Amino acid sequence: MKSIGLYLHIPFCDGKCAYCNFFSRCADDAAITDYTDRMVRSIGSWSKKIDRPVDTVYFGGGTPSLLGHDRLITILDAVKNGFTLTKDPEITVEVNPTSTDALDFSAMRSAGFNRLSIGLQSADDNELRILGRRHSCADARRTVERAQTAGFDNISLDVMLAVPEQTTDSLDHTLSFCASCGVQHISAYILKVEEGTRFYLLKERLPLFSDDEQAAFYEHTVRKLSKLGFPQYEISNFAANGFESRHNLHYWHDDEYLGLGPSAHSYLNGKRFYYDSDFQNFYDGVTCYESEGGDSEEYIMLALRLTEGLSFQDYEHRFRRPISQSFLQAARRLADQGLCAISDQAVSLTVKGFLVSNAVIAYLLENT
Ligand code: SF4
Repeated sequence: MKSIGLYLHIPFCDGKCAYCNFFSRCADDAAITDYTDRMVRSIGSWSKKIDRPVDTVYFGGGTPSLLGHDRLITILDAVKNGFTLTKDPEITVEVNPTSTDALDFSAMRSAGFNRLSIGLQSADDNELRILGRRHSCADARRTVERAQTAGFDNISLDVMLAVPEQTTDSLDHTLSFCASCGVQHISAYILKVEEGTRFYLLKERLPLFSDDEQAAFYEHTVRKLSKLGFPQYEISNFAANGFESRHNLHYWHDDEYLGLGPSAHSYLNGKRFYYDSDFQNFYDGVTCYESEGGDSEEYIMLALRLTEGLSFQDYEHRFRRPISQSFLQAARRLADQGLCAISDQAVSLTVKGFLVSNAVIAYLLENT
């Protein structure tokens, strides 16, 4: 029986970052405890309905570390009691450097957490202030060091590219800082100004970078991280060998997963569904149907996010037909423009192709 990933959304933050449109709220301790209890109940009820082993658990947010170690461990215990975990599960929790001084990393490590994803965003305190982050670079380093001392040897740092006032030098400083911390994984996202954020309201006045300048930051990041020992394996993700995020690989391999919590999405038994961004609907167990999942277009779209690209053999094995000639012809046209690469085994996007991945993938899908 194929194992699944389990995503648990923890929708609380200690403030709102200027660029963020994730579903998260400020809440008092009582509300956070109540949510913990509701999450435990939801895990209990879903585990009775699903007879699939779980090989990755991901606590995302929001700021899961705001729960503190006791409540995080309570939720993880509920997962262990309800679901069958595989022998060596990857269990990740997102952590923000503002909420970690009281976290007992040793207790978390003993309870089974074995991967941390830390929201650094920048090692430049001015950029952190612009982003509305509530921590300093020193806070982040202290968080990493405390976690490492407690035995965490699989740590990811999030970095943001094209932050207003960022320079190539300050970006270099941030990337070198990540490497100097001795982490194993880095996620690097280009800043997007999304509706509903503080940056969106200010966008006419913000010194935002042009598309070409953003592309230069991205290409620089790919080159620099490769030199620092973090080869790219997905559009926005870089890892030392063997430390790719197993949970996120579920998404990109079009595997199934269950997401619990308001705004969490699932793909299970061939169907995609989600909880909307509403606490009560989550508490009432109301999910919304999204679509049937797993068709060839979805598979291609997700596979092309990875540097390994779309394997012809895997495609044929999954859909019982070879990839079409018209798709290959379209890929060759894109290869002539330097946007993708084709071998006997696979088609993959180049770094230049990743920068316009939506358009490239749409073009390929038109020719599937
Ligand atoms: S900490 Fe993360 S989830 Fe919370 S507001 Fe900032 S970016 Fe959004």
